[in-house]
Order: sequence, then C-alpha cells, then structure tokens
Amino acid sequence: MEKHYMSPGVVTLVGAGPGDPDLLTIKAAKAIEQAELIIFDNLVSEAIRATFPAHAETYYVGKAKGHHSATQNDINQLLIKHAKQGKNVCRIKGGDSFVFGRGGEEMLLLAQKGIHVDVIPGITAASGCTTYAQIPLTHRGLAQGCTFITAHADKQLDLDWSALAKLNQTIVIYMGLSKSQLISDKLIKGGMPSNTPSAFIENGSTPQQRVFIGELAELEEIQQKNHIQSPALIVIGKVVSVAKQMQWLEQLTERAIGTDSSKSNLKLSA
Ligand code: SAH
Repeated sequence: MEKHYMSPGVVTLVGAGPGDPDLLTIKAAKAIEQAELIIFDNLVSEAIRATFPAHAETYYVGKAKGHHSATQNDINQLLIKHAKQGKNVCRIKGGDSFVFGRGGEEMLLLAQKGIHVDVIPGITAASGCTTYAQIPLTHRGLAQGCTFITAHADKQLDLDWSALAKLNQTIVIYMGLSKSQLISDKLIKGGMPSNTPSAFIENGSTPQQRVFIGELAELEEIQQKNHIQSPALIVIGKVVSVAKQMQWLEQLTERAIGTDSSKSNLKLSA
C-alpha cells in the first residue's frame, strides 16, 4: 500500500438510481451539484445527465457490453489522477454502486492510494424498475424473499441453478438478456414450474420503459418477439402476477370512467 498521505481531492461514488432523475437521493443531487469533475457511464440516463451543473467538467466512460470505451483500469487512473490534483470528483453509476457496479473495487483502490472516498447509495434497478412495473419484490403468500443475481460472467456462469429453482423467492436477474434461454432451461431443469410468471423490464423508470409479462418457459421467445434491448431486467416469481392483476384492475377502472388505456406500456405476452 502506498498510503503515505491523504490527497486533497475527494471521490464520491454516487448511485444514481435506475433512470428517473426524481429517484436521485437528496444526497446524490447535492454531490452532483458540488462536483468539479463528473465521470459517468452509459447507465446514467439522459435526464440525470441533464442535471449536471454547467460548471462541472464531464467525462463519459460508457461501458456498453462489448463496446468498452474505457477500461476499468482507464477509469481507475482517471479517478486517481483528478483526485490527486485536489478535485472534487463525482463518479456516477446507474442504480447502486455496490450492486453489480464494481463500486467496492473502486472504493478499495482509492483508499489504497490515500484518496478520500465517500459512497452514496442509490436505488438499485431490481428495486426501482420492479416498483415502476407494479411488481412487489416480496408479497405475503407469494414470496418471502428475493435474490438478485447477475447472468454476466467473464467465464462460465457459476450459479447453483437447482438451489435457485427451489428457493421459492423472487429472482431478479441483471445482465441476463443474452442468456434468457439458458436461464429458463436451467431453472426448469432445477425444478421450477415452467409456467412461473416472469417479466422483462426494459429501460425501467424512464419514459421508454417497456414491461413484458409471460411464463418462465417463454423468456427467449418474449425477448426475440419484442426486440428487448439492454438495459433490461428479468424478474421471475409469483409476484409478477401482481402486475397482471393491477393491469386488469386499472382496465376495469378505465372502462368504468371511460379513460384511454392505450397509453399503458405493460404488455401481457401470454
Ligand atoms: N449498479 C446497477 C446495476 C449495473 S449492472 C444497479 O444497481 O442497478 C447493469 C444491469 O442492470 C443492466 O444490464 C440491467 O440488467 C440492469 N439495469 C440497470 N438499469 C436498468 C433499467 N433502467 N432498466 C432495466 N434494467 C436496468
């Protein structure tokens, strides 16, 4: 460790939530307002980028899958360089930095370099997107817990699928789009009923949000048919049926009061 002194600069790792700028915490909004340099990636929505103050220098380090415009090492070097120059640096990530966001790695590295680092939690996609899609993560009688997993792995996916299949909990899968067939196959083989309610949420909490609901066995088909693109979450479990019930209830109310239901972006694919 080369921690001989504390550098004058500060890095704040800011979780910006899933997209809607109104889901920024007050603490995150204050940190953004006070930043001299903002380093952000592709999951930080346009609407959140619009809140960046004009006085701050901004740096895009988009990390779209397969198109790494900056490596993790480049980002680390950038953070260290600017903090050592004494700047107030905001590193903004989608969702929460500590949920599949490599925030822990950045925090440890900065601390090793003697740089003061603060972390501000954000609403992770699994929470924000399911809520905007009217899917409760837990629900009495339907799910007593929830599990977040990533389907992205540098090498082979190392998940105990049969344990997951038997958990009887809501499963939320990040970065699962390229593995939807594998996810269905493995969970069904592990003992999960093939008709388990399942959903895709694309661009959750943004004006482009789309939600598709079907059954576990149909994941790949739903994805292909609707050209679902990243960022998207896969939600598997009985709680997904709550969103379906909500849609029926809303349609009933709309029929009763004669409003237009065509604006709903919830699609039932079954
Ligand atoms: N740290 C982030 C997750 C980063 S991993 C968080 O806490 O939310 C990136 C994955 O998150 C995407 O591939 C997608 O699966 C999910 N994701 C992030 N934002 C999303 C959004 N607005 N809508 C749907 N999925 C989202």
